[in-house]
Amino acid sequence: SFSSKYITQLPPDPLFGLKARYVEDPRTDKIDLGIGAYRDNNGKPWILPSVKLAENLLQNSKDYNHEYLPISGLKQFTQAAAKVILGEDSKAIKEDRLVSIQSLSGTGALHVVSRFLKDFYKNDSNPESLPTIYLSQPTWANHIQIFNFSGLKTAAYPYWDNATKSLDLDGFLKSIENAPTGSVFLLHATAHNPTGLDPKPEQWKKILRAIDENGHLPLFDSAYQGFSSGSLSKDSWAVREAVDGDYKFPILICQSFAKNVGMYGERVGAVHLILPEHDEALNKAAFSQLSKIIRAEISNPPSYGAKIVSLILNTPELKKQWEQDLITMSTRIGQMRLKLRDELVKLGTPGTWNHIVEQQGMFSFTGLTPVQVERCEKEHGVYLVGSGRISVAGLNEGNYKRVAKAFDEVVR
Ligand code: PMP
Repeated sequence: SFSSKYITQLPPDPLFGLKARYVEDPRTDKIDLGIGAYRDNNGKPWILPSVKLAENLLQNSKDYNHEYLPISGLKQFTQAAAKVILGEDSKAIKEDRLVSIQSLSGTGALHVVSRFLKDFYKNDSNPESLPTIYLSQPTWANHIQIFNFSGLKTAAYPYWDNATKSLDLDGFLKSIENAPTGSVFLLHATAHNPTGLDPKPEQWKKILRAIDENGHLPLFDSAYQGFSSGSLSKDSWAVREAVDGDYKFPILICQSFAKNVGMYGERVGAVHLILPEHDEALNKAAFSQLSKIIRAEISNPPSYGAKIVSLILNTPELKKQWEQDLITMSTRIGQMRLKLRDELVKLGTPGTWNHIVEQQGMFSFTGLTPVQVERCEKEHGVYLVGSGRISVAGLNEGNYKRVAKAFDEVVR
């Protein structure tokens, strides 16, 4: 039977719970720095000009319809999406070592991958054992439950050093060495959520070398390509190093277009598997098993957003516009980082605030404690996540001074 003995009530999701409290707050000057969604300088959602152009093109085309996509998704989309992350001239594409499938945005990609790893990623000396998924400490909270839902265990690797507000590279490398062979290391491709702290190229090389030498698999979660630097190629540096560098591992990529095309609700994403060498039989087998997971879970992926993104990626003028849109978003976020930092310095707010401008992407880990975060919300109507993370995209010319003032008051 259904009974509250078995069905226990859970607390609201922390992030969506925060949003609900924000919506209910009657204060007219409240400020939402919670969920990671881009806002323009008026605090409003932004439909990218490239998306508007693509929507026009799509809706005026003679084959515009809402038919089902194939199980594996829209091929023009998945192929072009692979080039966005791997580069136009990727060796993996030329050597036919790539398997791609469309997913329900980044979350769906992670979910498909979790199932695929559970069923098919084997340690030859102990094929019954399941791989452990190593996640950065801290990471996007949903990572843990996505993998646990598929019956996989997660473990944490050191990442953020709170004392220095920088990367704990030694701790990270030790954890790679100590993990059982055949573990999976989830890596944020760029714009780490929640810290905004990414390894530098030399650090990435050490991390990837250690993952390779210890027989693990790198799983890249790419949800913010374009948000760190505004450049697609710069923001996929780590992925391209893993794919093009001298490593033996297979690679998995979970790719989301939610943020970088601003089609959050349309659920556009892809899974890419890169095999270390060309193996046609393995390539086909992997594609068929990934397709089966999609078929069993969602039958086929949503088409509207994939068609829009496909048009953007495959139409040179639209691609150019999109690259401009990425610069618009990343530049505005960068300016807001500077303004917030400068304002805190101007107020003489205790503590150091340079990390706000050194971090990249959509988020900044401010260093505010849970108690300070709560006071920001209660006393100032400034909403941020309990960890002290802010979505920098929620800042604008009209509100950053009030945010700085709130921070200043709660840290004193
Ligand atoms: N990975 C990370 C690190 C994220 O921050 C997010 C979104 N917040 C996702 C994946 C997935 O997002 P979506 O399912 O909307 O593509």
